[in-house]
Amino acid sequence: MDFNLTEEHIMIRDAARDFAQTELLPGVIERDNAQTFPESLVRKMGELGFLGVMVDPKYGGSGMDAISYVLIMEELSKIDASASVMVSVNNSLVCYGLESYANEAQKEKYLTKLAKGEIIGAFCLSEPEAGSDATSQKTTAIDMGDHYLLNGTKNWITNGGRAGVYLVIAQTDKDKGHKGINAFILEKGMPGFDIGPKEDKLGIRGSDTHTLQFNDVKVPKENRIGEDGFGFKFAMKTLSGGRIGIAAQALGIAAGAYELALKYSKERKAFGTEICNHQAIAFKLADMATEIEAARMLVMKAAWDKDQGNNYDMSSAMAKLYASQVAMTHTVEAVQIHGGNGFVKDYHVERLMRDAKITQIYEGTSEIQKIVISRGIIKG
Ligand SMILES: Cc1cc2nc3c(=O)[nH]c(=O)nc-3n(C[C@H](O)[C@H](O)[C@H](O)COP(=O)(O)OP(=O)(O)OC[C@H]3O[C@@H](n4cnc5c(N)ncnc54)[C@H](O)[C@@H]3O)c2cc1C
Repeated sequence: MDFNLTEEHIMIRDAARDFAQTELLPGVIERDNAQTFPESLVRKMGELGFLGVMVDPKYGGSGMDAISYVLIMEELSKIDASASVMVSVNNSLVCYGLESYANEAQKEKYLTKLAKGEIIGAFCLSEPEAGSDATSQKTTAIDMGDHYLLNGTKNWITNGGRAGVYLVIAQTDKDKGHKGINAFILEKGMPGFDIGPKEDKLGIRGSDTHTLQFNDVKVPKENRIGEDGFGFKFAMKTLSGGRIGIAAQALGIAAGAYELALKYSKERKAFGTEICNHQAIAFKLADMATEIEAARMLVMKAAWDKDQGNNYDMSSAMAKLYASQVAMTHTVEAVQIHGGNGFVKDYHVERLMRDAKITQIYEGTSEIQKIVISRGIIKG
């Protein structure tokens, strides 16, 4: 067992850290306030290869491994989780889904642009009545011979306004239950495809979350991914890898808050000494450092499982469950260590605390991760 990163991994991590410090940190508070994220920063992430990290270079990707991916995600998330969710959705849900399950023509048409960041992708599974229970899809895709007719609503869609390509899950044959679900590639601007207003959120406010509406959208037959009825499996397989990205996001949020709290505790004085010298604060820092390192080990293990070709359903669920809990607990502690300063925007920790919450909700809530883990344990 080797816990060392390779030289290449260190270079990638440092490049992501440098980008986060020089490009993401300036303006992060203003972007959070205004709920915006400029296209110029998306382009820069594309140029650095962050939007197609694991995609084969023949499709315009960086050809890196999952360890590299989580290192990038951790570093971006320390500074701006709104940027990193865009990276996560594009990489682990959209690019991975297409590279693994789309046909050559679909890959050539869509994957290359997505991997280079020339366009951004969105993954559309959730509906007003189908969140955790994703089998309850109400969006329908009726087979009309040479095309499918899509009708329905998707909500909470990350990159919903800025995406060019949308992977949409819909029910084709209700009688077949989850085996009657398909996944389709939709393009922005298709007639009948409408994008609702941006959600006003607690956290990851720079990321763009929308409801999507489909009214008799004609989707060509060649835009279905995989065999008829493959859509639910497609969604579950893709989400399993997505959880590694979100676990790394949670880890980065926790580590970012910890780094700020440690620095602040060495500068702020109370009762004649730096506050880190008070045992109550020192022990908080010890708990943070220990639990963040434990989360990092779970995230790395899940990424390693993926790189080795092992099944990672359990390790990704464990990593997401634990890292998101650590993010929530320790961002709250980081605010506490900052005292009153923690409660205002200039010190960044309140934003990290708000951003942490979503990691316990999307791509499967913590309760759903426990269902995945407990089923895995019991099945053996
Ligand atoms: C900011 C944001 C971005 C998102 N981005 C996307 C996206 O890009 N694409 C997409 O498809 N979706 C996206 N989502 C949706 C997200 O994945 C869902 O919100 C999530 O899966 C939970 O579904 P729900 O909101 O319907 O909650 P519900 O399923 O209604 O759950 C409510 C509560 O009940 C609990 N619960 C439900 N079932 C069980 C059970 N069997 N046992 C125990 N507890 C249970 C849940 O854990 C939760 O605590 C996003 C959501 C947000 C808020």
